[in-house]
Amino acid sequence: MKKIKYLILGAGPSGLTLAHSLVDAGCPLDQILVVEKEAVSGGLCRSEMVDGAPLDIGGGHFLDLKRKEVLDFVFRFMPREEWDLYDRVSKIRIRDVEVDHPLEANLWQLPTEVQADYLESIAQAGCIRGEEMPESFAAWINWKLGDRIAQEYMLPYNRKIWSMDPDALGTYWLYKLPNVSFRETLLSCLEGKPMGALPAHGTFLYPKKFGYGEVWRRMGEALGDSLVSNCTVETIDLGTRTVNGRWQAETIVSSIPWTLWPGYCPIPEDVKAAISCLKNAPIDVDYHQETLDSRAHWTYEPDESVPHHRLLLRSNFSTGARGYWTEANASRSTPAQGPRFHNEFAYPINTLGKPEAVEKILTWAKANGVIGLGRWGRWEHMNSDVAVAEALQMANQLKTGS
Ligand SMILES: Cc1cc2nc3c(=O)[nH]c(=O)nc-3n(C[C@H](O)[C@H](O)[C@H](O)COP(=O)(O)OP(=O)(O)OC[C@H]3O[C@@H](n4cnc5c(N)ncnc54)[C@H](O)[C@@H]3O)c2cc1C
Repeated sequence: MKKIKYLILGAGPSGLTLAHSLVDAGCPLDQILVVEKEAVSGGLCRSEMVDGAPLDIGGGHFLDLKRKEVLDFVFRFMPREEWDLYDRVSKIRIRDVEVDHPLEANLWQLPTEVQADYLESIAQAGCIRGEEMPESFAAWINWKLGDRIAQEYMLPYNRKIWSMDPDALGTYWLYKLPNVSFRETLLSCLEGKPMGALPAHGTFLYPKKFGYGEVWRRMGEALGDSLVSNCTVETIDLGTRTVNGRWQAETIVSSIPWTLWPGYCPIPEDVKAAISCLKNAPIDVDYHQETLDSRAHWTYEPDESVPHHRLLLRSNFSTGARGYWTEANASRSTPAQGPRFHNEFAYPINTLGKPEAVEKILTWAKANGVIGLGRWGRWEHMNSDVAVAEALQMANQLKTGS
């Protein structure tokens, strides 16, 4: 039995960042252990070589530039000169036309008649007419964006990506959607130019010679013997905080999905009930050899007769690569025609009641010396830069005991 201070479950961006930043905060490396079920660290951000070039097996991943502390940390493992900077080109297919994303800022690119349809529906949106905000997801989307954007894009796209009745989703996360102003949309159509700001990843970094996974692989390698790969968590003794009967820790930090925990240790009924409220969407990533004739880095596909919801043109962001890959909710995938990568835990779903369930689980965990971290520890739809930022912050809190 090895005794250590911190046992971190999962070597995705969250677990890796926490391990390194605990060392930065003065904790000896031999007092930290990261346990990872896969052979290679990086979690959803891993890449593999497919058809002569890297492919991001957890779906398309790009590094956002907005957080300086994250870039400083990431560049320690893959210096800035190993990354290329791109201005995002993302498209959405609507009525068989490809327009720039986000749709509401680029309606001017559609045929005039179609623009008129959209403008009419935005003018009649509930929020513009001062109607009360509805509580169900589908009604909320109609209220906020007008029924055209709702029916032709937002609702079908959400049905595809989650494979779930949109009304099982909460509305608490929709504050992220931009406001659509009728006046600004009209001006944009009349002047033939986009309005508003680009969403996340307006510009982004992608490795010059590797896939997105390389930086996390290096981060794992730099942990030496403090990373145990090919090791699945199977049992947790909460009384002694012992994992797999091999390692005993003062604090366990879990970045693995809570829904796996009932298989590891006894859990009180009310916490088990909260865990059963957590839902995740699995995705299949499928590689296709053909190089498409488009400038886009990726394209959103709301058409429900097509299985995938997003298509990634790696030939446009990975040096010397050909081909593209698609991302589809696994329940919508058709039989694979080429290399396929299945990700059971891809998206945490923002279902009704999720915030309360997560709070209950984290409170119980904390009382047992366990802290939830990252996408699955917090059940939050966070990007890797946010995962890194939160892990950096957690290391500071652990250091100061707050
Ligand atoms: C399709 C898609 C596109 C995305 N695009 C972007 C993007 O463009 N830019 C961006 O910054 N972020 C993007 N993200 C988000 C990014 O993947 C996450 O923010 C990041 O992976 C979160 O890191 P994490 O360590 O919290 O979780 P994960 O990466 O999921 O890591 C969890 C780790 O736990 C391990 N694990 C699970 N169970 C066990 C067990 N029983 N025992 C041991 N280990 C276990 C897993 O193998 C994994 O390594 C995207 C995500 C998806 C799904």
